[in-house]
Amino acid sequence: MNSIRMRANAIYLLLYASGIYGLVLWPPVRGFVTIIAEPLRRGVAPVLVHLPLSVRCVVALIVFDALAYWVHRAAHAWPLLWRVHRVHHSDPDFGPMTTFRFHVLEIAWRMAAQLLPLYILGIAASIPSSVWAVLLAFNVLAHSGLRWTFGPLRGAIVSPAFHAQHHRSETAMHFGMFFAVWDVWFGTAQRSKPASQTPSITRSPAAFSIQESITRRCFTRSTERTTKCAVTVSPT
Ligand SMILES: [Zn+2]
Ligand SMILES: [Zn+2]
Repeated sequence: MNSIRMRANAIYLLLYASGIYGLVLWPPVRGFVTIIAEPLRRGVAPVLVHLPLSVRCVVALIVFDALAYWVHRAAHAWPLLWRVHRVHHSDPDFGPMTTFRFHVLEIAWRMAAQLLPLYILGIAASIPSSVWAVLLAFNVLAHSGLRWTFGPLRGAIVSPAFHAQHHRSETAMHFGMFFAVWDVWFGTAQRSKPASQTPSITRSPAAFSIQESITRRCFTRSTERTTKCAVTVSPT
């Protein structure tokens, strides 16, 4: 890893760890989410708020993760979103530090999109911060570069090998954050067992434009077409 890349990753980590996103981004995002959620919330029966905390946490995890899948997929599909999401993919040294490498605008819009349903359901405030901490730790593991596939759970839970395939792949696949089932159900999972090897991401700026054009051309709901795109492009 050269020193410039190392410094860039350290800055992203520092921004995250300093809590500046929470201080600067969260108030306007929360304001926006509250404005949108309030009128919608009135139409939803407050069933979930009376359920045990453990059930609310499971529901929150499922809803949040389903949204994470779709916003990630959208980030690869729409050129404007890809412009900010490609920051995450611009790390040639895939590893735990990649977890924190996100454009500030992506953090803001993903926060809003993924938390909005929890506000509408009225359960956002009751989810303990430990749940988010576990999700973050899991995300660091997904970017660890380890060869773990989680064996029989590989189609259910995102493993390090599963997410590494997303970073390595020139196709649009493996968008899941925690549950891999979204990819399986919506046709963006690799059919064969994911290669359990550390991704060799050495994309140059030139390769970026290739990645960008691939993303624009190949994002599709059909695994079949995704595969077709995969074979027309040489790995960089
Ligand atoms: Zn991505
Ligand atoms: Zn990633």
